[in-house]
Amino acid sequence: MHKKLMLALCLFVWPAAAQTIAIRAGNLVDPAKGTVSKDQVIVVENGKITAIGAGVAIPKDAQVVDLSKQWVMPGLMDAHTHLTFEEIPGKAPFEAMYLKQSTAFRSLQGVHIGKVLLDAGFTTMRDVGNEADYACVELKKAIQKGWVDGPTLQCAGKIIGPFGGQSKGMPEEVGGFWLHEYIDAETADEVRKAIHQNIYYGADVIKLATDNSDYFYTEEEIRAAADESHNAGRALAVHVYGGRAADNVIRGGADSLEHGFALTVEQLKMMKEKGVYLVGTDFPEAHLAGLNPSNETLADAKKLGDQIVERLKNANKIGVKMAFGSDTVTGMPGRTRADMVFDYLAVWKAAGVSNADILKAMTTNCAELLRVNKERGAIAAGQFADIIAMPGDPLQEIETLRKVNFVMKNGKVVRAAK
Ligand SMILES: [Zn+2]
Repeated sequence: MHKKLMLALCLFVWPAAAQTIAIRAGNLVDPAKGTVSKDQVIVVENGKITAIGAGVAIPKDAQVVDLSKQWVMPGLMDAHTHLTFEEIPGKAPFEAMYLKQSTAFRSLQGVHIGKVLLDAGFTTMRDVGNEADYACVELKKAIQKGWVDGPTLQCAGKIIGPFGGQSKGMPEEVGGFWLHEYIDAETADEVRKAIHQNIYYGADVIKLATDNSDYFYTEEEIRAAADESHNAGRALAVHVYGGRAADNVIRGGADSLEHGFALTVEQLKMMKEKGVYLVGTDFPEAHLAGLNPSNETLADAKKLGDQIVERLKNANKIGVKMAFGSDTVTGMPGRTRADMVFDYLAVWKAAGVSNADILKAMTTNCAELLRVNKERGAIAAGQFADIIAMPGDPLQEIETLRKVNFVMKNGKVVRAAK
């Protein structure tokens, strides 16, 4: 009886004692420097890294995680994702999603996709809208409460844009059905009001879509959005492909251009000069073709795929700050969302970006753009313990990222190495 009680007490106190974790990291990758340090010890207490180094002693009560044969690095980030959005397959128009799927369904979809991406190594993600009526915000709350495992999220709420959201040419009598996903804002004042509304409902980042139609925001309207976002401590991300709309976005003070497939060398130079981020969402050609595989779109996919590689090559050469962003919203048979996100690595390689710079775009740079670099994006004392590991060196072979087999988020092991 007495022994049983002792055992029960031991089991009861064990989790508290296990709050200190010591990781033996055989090869520690520093994406900011592109270097590897051998045989490091990382001490994690209450979700944060408290000590790191070759000579660091393992605390007496620590739970030891042995990654001595692995390559260890900070958790991956994606600055342009849509966890609560997957295009309906077949010939359904883009708008079908808003009409056929409820906000509740979209949140639950986000639970599934978020877990898939977390297990693949993505510990922080910026969701840039298309979340119905704040489905991502609700998902974020569930993750914060610990009800479900998912990445640390930043959500945009509704996408702000000129009339019509990203829908096209629907009959007038259908009404503004897109308002479940978008806020129509036609003037600087309306943009400010839309930003307030999003922040009220839980947005961490502000997302504008400017050139989805022939009309787009002026430089002054973008500046109003940037000022309002920055005053509220949030970054401004703007969906734009190129042309005069992109000039306005760059000059108006946005923090990042999302997509930017048609950006010219002059525009990329202006971005470099102003320190504006490119979140290129560099779609692989196969994904573009998969959206609608008719002969016509296959040719279009090839053309756009080539254009994306060329633009990425130019941005890299000019030295534009780049943060990794996937924008994967399609499904392909037998492939997970994570498989598809890792397909982008081949595009970055084709554009001549070094493995070190790709890793930086997926960690350090994303952390800066997301304004979380003081707490995430590096393995250093004081940072949250977002740590992943894999059985090879991603600096030598970037595709090794597909083999991530250990994931820790906020100090909690969500996937243990086998
Ligand atoms: Zn997107």
